[in-house]
Amino acid sequence: MAKAAQERMEKIVSLCKRRGFIFQSSEIYGGLNGFWDYGPMGVELKRNLKDFWWRRNVHQREDVVGMDGSIIMNRAVWRASGHEETFNDPMVDCKNCQARLRADQLPEKDQIPYCPTCGSRDLTDARDFNLMFKSHTGPLENDDNLVYLRPETAQAMFVQFKNILETSRKKLPFGIAQIGKAFRNEINPRNYIFRSREFEQMEIEYFCRPEDGLALTDYWLEERLKFYEDIGIPRAKIKIHDIPDGERAFYSKKTYDLEYEFPFGLSELEGVAYRTDYDLSAHMKQSGKPLEYFDDEKKEKFVPHVVEPSAGVDRTALALLCEAFDEEEVTDDKGGKEVRTILRFHPRIAPVKCGIFPLLKNKPALVEKAKAVAAALRPHMMVFYDEAGAIGRRYRRQDEIGTPFCVTIDFDTIGENGPEKVDTVTLRHRDSMQQERIPIAELRARLEAAIF
Ligand code: ATP
Repeated sequence: MAKAAQERMEKIVSLCKRRGFIFQSSEIYGGLNGFWDYGPMGVELKRNLKDFWWRRNVHQREDVVGMDGSIIMNRAVWRASGHEETFNDPMVDCKNCQARLRADQLPEKDQIPYCPTCGSRDLTDARDFNLMFKSHTGPLENDDNLVYLRPETAQAMFVQFKNILETSRKKLPFGIAQIGKAFRNEINPRNYIFRSREFEQMEIEYFCRPEDGLALTDYWLEERLKFYEDIGIPRAKIKIHDIPDGERAFYSKKTYDLEYEFPFGLSELEGVAYRTDYDLSAHMKQSGKPLEYFDDEKKEKFVPHVVEPSAGVDRTALALLCEAFDEEEVTDDKGGKEVRTILRFHPRIAPVKCGIFPLLKNKPALVEKAKAVAAALRPHMMVFYDEAGAIGRRYRRQDEIGTPFCVTIDFDTIGENGPEKVDTVTLRHRDSMQQERIPIAELRARLEAAIF
């Protein structure tokens, strides 16, 4: 990684820790490689992202319904899907320092791969390593009770296809959406939360007639690009990689990878794949149960094809953080220069929507009024009440967590400077730092219009 990019990434990681977005899992015990905890700000960011995805893809559409499947499923599911046989990454060991490495990600010098940990070229031959975490149901740890933590959310939507089709009474084309945890025992978790061993996915399986599959893949690509734009990741920042013939999964007729320019390089955010009838056919074969669709009008029975937009919550959260992070030089009240750190989140994604401050904390009338404003907004959005320190410092603290609006209650608000401005407040905008005076009565509608 180039030095500037590395520094930027380090600043983002440090901000995320300092301001309660992301912590190492089990940190007081030295952490656990590939696992992360989201703190008070991080959990809000992820919730806002998932809620918006759900609203856009389930609530606002007539043709998509949701489900929430179990993480552990019958082992036969993973036999049928091919994961038990082929969900492998090639692995090598360094004979010098015993590091376990992904064979396809080794650095090379003069076209000879070497160990990135110690530099040795003394590596074992590559062998397959299955990425599924194993466990057992019940007290006996034998092969009959072997189960896996799901490595993707998709399979539950295929195996419940018939139940959902019948209970929702949908007609093709229609989709099933799911958000949930997935687990992959990655050989080299890296790049912060980009590649971890426990993560969340947001997936849609969109079932259709075979002849519509290709066009719907392009349709979903466009939908997904709009989504990213609506959370603050512009189209120009996403590279569409049309995976060429021969490099796609053998069953896929078209796959687009959506890649974002992270500080550590262009990397996959989401895949939109036309998976044909591979999954439903495989489960029909393994289970012996019919999973076809009967078209009433055309009087024909067939196995639906499927288009799958599959996104990672954590990778999108990281892209949002990278996109939002900014530093700018500003002049303070006394003419001194300082660096302002800002997360320029889209308001609908920002963890806190509005900071609420009394101008002075030792004036009970200001404090009481500010607390009343906070209490009135709290049922409708995430607000943060803060009375500690100079007002400029309080603004900076909100800038650092990406709060788009701050409201200050001052002597005008409580009518000490005459009746004209009573019950009005200063609304300060994060990006421009511009301030305007607005009536408290208009506050909720103004903020809701921006954050919805
Ligand atoms: P990669 O090639 O980066 O390993 P993939 O192509 O195997 O990813 P998919 O199986 O298509 O990924 O999974 C769909 C999405 O799930 C990815 O686009 C990504 O956003 C997310 N995802 C997959 N693996 C991880 C991981 N280890 N950590 C975080 N997110 C992940």
